[in-house]
Amino acid sequence: MAGEVHVIGHPLVQHKLSLLRRKQTSTSEFRSLVAEISMLLAYEVTRDLPTQPISVETPLTRTTAPVLDGKKIVLIPILRAGAGILDGMLRILPSARVGHIGLYRDPKTLAAVEYYFKIPKVMRDRDAIVVDPMLATGNSAVAAVERLKAAAPRSIKFVCLLTCPEGLRHFHSRHADVPVYTASVDSHLDAHGYIVPGLGDAGDRLFGTK
Ligand code: URA
Repeated sequence: MAGEVHVIGHPLVQHKLSLLRRKQTSTSEFRSLVAEISMLLAYEVTRDLPTQPISVETPLTRTTAPVLDGKKIVLIPILRAGAGILDGMLRILPSARVGHIGLYRDPKTLAAVEYYFKIPKVMRDRDAIVVDPMLATGNSAVAAVERLKAAAPRSIKFVCLLTCPEGLRHFHSRHADVPVYTASVDSHLDAHGYIVPGLGDAGDRLFGTK
């Protein structure tokens, strides 16, 4: 079964993504752009969230109006680069809970190695949104979602800025039930596991570590 892939082609997202790709984009611009794109991706990934009516008093009258139960959402960045997306998403989902999954890529094998895992204790009635800027080999995404599934959240979605056909194939071969939301499916992965044309190392560019 092929998994769902949602490419967010909105002109604002695409414009900001193009600026993000430029190698001359500074660390501070990169950070701001990631936060802005993340807000727009959050808008798309939460499109089908249920709402419930509450009673509201406007300056004119009392009425019933819908609200989200933001506390049911758990944003789960894959450290460290996922933290950049978290900042933007929390601006429009300020009541969301936050879990963290720490994974690094073994530079030789490109396998995901876990060093941290902390999510809310009870996940049964929560909707998890896993975030990582790059779904590249798919190894980290596969490992993160596997760990998360053991906690049995009500739903899981995966959000990234960029992905590629190889990463999507690998991810959905293991988690066909988890939809992926992305701003672009790029051409391919290179021999070092980088997305081409991509934007380089998202963590280094976010945190200025290169
Ligand atoms: N991680 C990155 O930061 N960039 C890539 O292109 C692939 C994985």
